Amino acid sequence: MNSFDLLAQFGAESVQFVSDEARGLRAIIAVHSTRRGPAFGGIRTLSYSTLHAALTDALRLAQHMSYKAALADLRAGGGKIVVMKSERLDRRLAFIALGRAIDRLGGSFFTGLDVGTTYEDLEDVAKGTARVASHLDFGKATARGCVAALKAAFEHLEQPGLKGKTVAVQGLGSVGLELAHMLAGAQARVLVADIDDERAQGAARETGAQVVKPGEILAVSCDALAPCALGGALTLQAVKSLRCRVIAGSANNQLASPAAAKALHARGIVYVPDFVANAGALIKGVLEHQAGRELSFDVVDRVGDSTKAVLDRARSEGRPPSEVAERIALERLA
Ligand code: NAD
Repeated sequence: MNSFDLLAQFGAESVQFVSDEARGLRAIIAVHSTRRGPAFGGIRTLSYSTLHAALTDALRLAQHMSYKAALADLRAGGGKIVVMKSERLDRRLAFIALGRAIDRLGGSFFTGLDVGTTYEDLEDVAKGTARVASHLDFGKATARGCVAALKAAFEHLEQPGLKGKTVAVQGLGSVGLELAHMLAGAQARVLVADIDDERAQGAARETGAQVVKPGEILAVSCDALAPCALGGALTLQAVKSLRCRVIAGSANNQLASPAAAKALHARGIVYVPDFVANAGALIKGVLEHQAGRELSFDVVDRVGDSTKAVLDRARSEGRPPSEVAERIALERLA
């Protein structure tokens, strides 16, 4: 498949290749949509085996960002930047050069954090452009959005509130750990798991949560499961062994297949689609950019409104929330 076919497959508007050989920079700026406003999307820094793999990842993630912005009803579009990690990458200078490339886009692209990129990298990007949210607490904003999604899902089930609910958090990185703190603060009973046992033990000490083995967290008996590790956790097999009523977490691409979405629906488990639940940092970033100042974390609570809209429509149409969310996104992007 050639690059134009790939753009067409993902419905993307454009792609720009950024090269600065002296600094080992090879990056792709993918813009999925600017129909609703400028494109927002973080920088992912990873090793890719081929250019095709990097381009596919950038386009898939950019599409995801457009859906996320549309679902949150933001006047913003979606994009993504992929930096191809290599031994030749001179990180500091490369990220400054990337900042300049973003600046040349003239305000049609705003960026932030994603997997493999650090706050230090973002500070370097900020030396080349002002169009970067280098000081946003992405983990906290995203966790707050997950809390809003969990609350809305329990309201949907007419069991409002988090107090006394058991919530299992898979993955205790920048989002999962914040989420565990927030849930403990809301007097939920928190179960945590991470493949890094020190992280799990640390989270338990800090929040009073109970540690569960990583291989058992998906099947633990709880009111809600919050997948906050890597994507693809919800395989058909995993769905069969779930013992929860609600799923809402930050991980991207949680559903391993469309069949997993159907299986969740058939089991009556309320699934808040990932790109609805994990929009917190995007919402705060876009609204702060539009306001020209820092805003309180309260703005993220609109994730509750989008969760309610998706779950209400899914119920009235008798279809899985993931299908309904995608349809709403496409309607708004049309
Ligand atoms: P992170 O890398 O800081 O943390 C991920 C954690 O998951 C790590 O502690 C890792 O050890 C753990 N983990 C990995 N595999 C696991 C497994 N099988 N079982 C249990 N634990 C496992 O990542 P993060 O920034 O906290 O983001 C978490 C997820 O949310 C990612 O999928 C990310 O793409 C997504 N996301 C993050 C943000 C954000 O603002 N940070 C926004 C949207 C989506």
